Amino acid sequence: MKTFCGRANPTTGAMEWLEEDENYDYHQEIARSRYADMLHDKDRNVKYYQGIRAAVSRVKERGEKAIVLDIGTGTGLLSMMAASAGADFCYAIEVFKPMANAAVKIVEKNGFCDKIKVINKHSTEVTVGPDGDMQCRANILVTELFDTELIGEGALPTYEHAHKYLVQEGCEAVPHRATVYVQLVESKRMWSWNKLFPVHVEAEDGEKIIVSPSEMENCPGVPSVCDIQLNQMPSSDFTILSDVVTMFSVDFSKPVRSASTYYRVQLEPVKSGKAQIVLSWWDIDMDPSGMINCTMAPYWVKSTSAFQWRDHWMQCVYFLPNEEPVLQGEKVYLTACRDEYSVWYKLQKARGEEENKANVRVESPVCRCQAHLLWNRPRFGELNDQNRTRQYIESLMKVLKTDSVCLCISDGSLLPVLAHYLGAKQVQYFFLCFFFFKFFKANHLEDKIKIIEARPELLTSSHLEDKKISVLVGEPFFTTSLLPWHNLYFWYARTAVTSHLTNNVTVLPQSASLHMMIVEFQDLWRIRSPCGTCEGFDVQTMDDMIKNSLNFRESKEAEPHPLWEYPCKSLSDPQEVLTFDFRKTVPQHCLSTEGSVNLSRKGKSHGAVLWMEYHLAADISVSTGPIQISNEKGNCEWNPHCKQAVYFFSSVIESETLSDLPSAVTYAINFNTKTGEIAMDFQL
Ligand code: SAH
Repeated sequence: MKTFCGRANPTTGAMEWLEEDENYDYHQEIARSRYADMLHDKDRNVKYYQGIRAAVSRVKERGEKAIVLDIGTGTGLLSMMAASAGADFCYAIEVFKPMANAAVKIVEKNGFCDKIKVINKHSTEVTVGPDGDMQCRANILVTELFDTELIGEGALPTYEHAHKYLVQEGCEAVPHRATVYVQLVESKRMWSWNKLFPVHVEAEDGEKIIVSPSEMENCPGVPSVCDIQLNQMPSSDFTILSDVVTMFSVDFSKPVRSASTYYRVQLEPVKSGKAQIVLSWWDIDMDPSGMINCTMAPYWVKSTSAFQWRDHWMQCVYFLPNEEPVLQGEKVYLTACRDEYSVWYKLQKARGEEENKANVRVESPVCRCQAHLLWNRPRFGELNDQNRTRQYIESLMKVLKTDSVCLCISDGSLLPVLAHYLGAKQVQYFFLCFFFFKFFKANHLEDKIKIIEARPELLTSSHLEDKKISVLVGEPFFTTSLLPWHNLYFWYARTAVTSHLTNNVTVLPQSASLHMMIVEFQDLWRIRSPCGTCEGFDVQTMDDMIKNSLNFRESKEAEPHPLWEYPCKSLSDPQEVLTFDFRKTVPQHCLSTEGSVNLSRKGKSHGAVLWMEYHLAADISVSTGPIQISNEKGNCEWNPHCKQAVYFFSSVIESETLSDLPSAVTYAINFNTKTGEIAMDFQL
């Protein structure tokens, strides 16, 4: 069956209707899922297997039959482990239909049909009894329902229900227990993902400071978790203010309560500083003794942690509502509040215990200033990047004159304010958001900068008070962009407003270019690489399913990844592949290119990385790609605020020596100006 889905094209801005196969979402979910990453997580798999064997043995030692309930079976892996460990019967529950189908096939292929029953239901729909899904309650409860925040995938309500209706009292649980740890830190880098720092502008009539509205200062932000590969955060980017402490733990073998609650610990700062961030991670004990432990602790807590790379579980960064000065040795209280699915933190000075208790409020944070709804965390980081701002200031100074009439097309941008201070007579600004009005107001600019609430193609001369635009600017940045080239929307908007521009209009950036480089990933390749067998079980069906989903749209697509979190080394020099001239309108014809890049280092060619560079003025460019590539090893350092596009090659070429290197990778890249899509093909 086909259905029509409407969407605004992120590059062209056009509203379009796509005919989607009804399975489209399934395929997207499978193709981009973390199943492969979980199956590659050796540490996790080995420890689950150990924990499951131990639980089956304990039940058998009591002379009972081992009846397993595996909630969220996925490929059926944990049930197959249990059956191999001697379990008498397993009920494998999986809500996601394509996965449940795959589990049936995998269980059959591995010869466990008579021991494992796959049930395609949400666990809360499962029935127990002679005519039910399960004949009787289970005495072993196995699950892997955790996300980086532990509870974000609904583990708590699922456990609560399972203990009430699906398992026996005193059952064995694998994992047996989860513990959440926290550490208080000061970090300008991480804090810059949550607050807008004052921006200093050296204007002709003295220094101007752009400030944020007071609502922003005290805003608690948004409740969505900030999960990152903390192992990629150098220790020079934060200061530790407290020891690692246990915030709370959950015993999965006993009834679990999912209702909102809070936990509180006393901390004694090991250093004076500004408490801004709570770093958090968890571990799971697979058995009651705690001998089989699987931890997400970062490198400075457990030096071996970097050995087990995983992307399905990372670490959390929580922003305190306000930064709070703390003194070494002067106790403070840290409170973790949680609802069924998320956690948030607050810090209080140690006053009377009763007074503090009375102050605990458990509502989840809601952004009051609207900035956190408009800007995501990397965008905050980008706006706070002083080097980047300086480049825009320098470029604006080159192009603005006192009589410039300036139009800015970008989402949630500070460019109109910069342009105003740097001398533009009149700044018009597209794409209003209520916050921006507040923002202009906080800077007393509400009558200096005009906000136009119109899409570019609907711009009229009356919006512009019959003036022509002499300077058109954009970062460009649009919140709808996922892949780097989606910001080419600026070019389409520029084309749509052409009739309002003066003949000798200055466009900033004047052009953009798409760049490409072949890389070897340290770890990221795992998320797209087949698993074959996992702990001795044949899971190839899963590999085939992922491959099928990746091929669903026939053309393989590039995917966005923030590469500062995923180390890689360059195997080729970066190469400019396409340019886009914003001084001209979008052409009717496609822009295509063919060529080859030489491989200059030995290694595995996992894929190509692509990014955009914006040429603001004659000799000023900003790059969303690498900021440094070490010559010797080819290790790359990436722009920390942007996602780059990664195109994984379907086969990996490995070369041990330079002489057996395929000398080059050939490519064909086509930018379809009608659809705004970039198609690419690589030959190794
Ligand atoms: N157990 C597998 C897969 C874990 S991923 C392994 O360890 O490799 C978690 C899976 O649980 C997902 O496939 C998700 O669809 C499923 N799931 C999550 N909550 C569920 C619930 N309450 N009932 C049934 N399935 C659930």
